[in-house]
Amino acid sequence: MIKISKRKVMEIIDNIFSIARKYPEVEKENIILAKKMAMKHNIKLQKKKNEYCKYCNTFFKPENVRIRINNHKVTYTCLNCNKITRFNYRTKPHLNNFKEKDSLKK
Ligand SMILES: [Zn+2]
Repeated sequence: MIKISKRKVMEIIDNIFSIARKYPEVEKENIILAKKMAMKHNIKLQKKKNEYCKYCNTFFKPENVRIRINNHKVTYTCLNCNKITRFNYRTKPHLNNFKEKDSLKK
């Protein structure tokens, strides 16, 4: 197997995603291809993960997704396959941590 640097692979994956966004008819195939490339080269898709539905491999668009915030989690309901994906999101550092630090200083 020819070794390619991880940065190059990330560039290729970015290109695949932009092509998939341009041409909706090859969207599914390209998202599967990008996922397989990331798996093969041991790369995390990170922020790209919340751009598509992991069950039916289509992009989340305003017309086919319902987004709700609840218990510090964002839930995306895909309206193509009715499956739910959940993501955590970061808020301000928890207030309890500050209280503990203050008590330590005293
Ligand atoms: Zn879906």
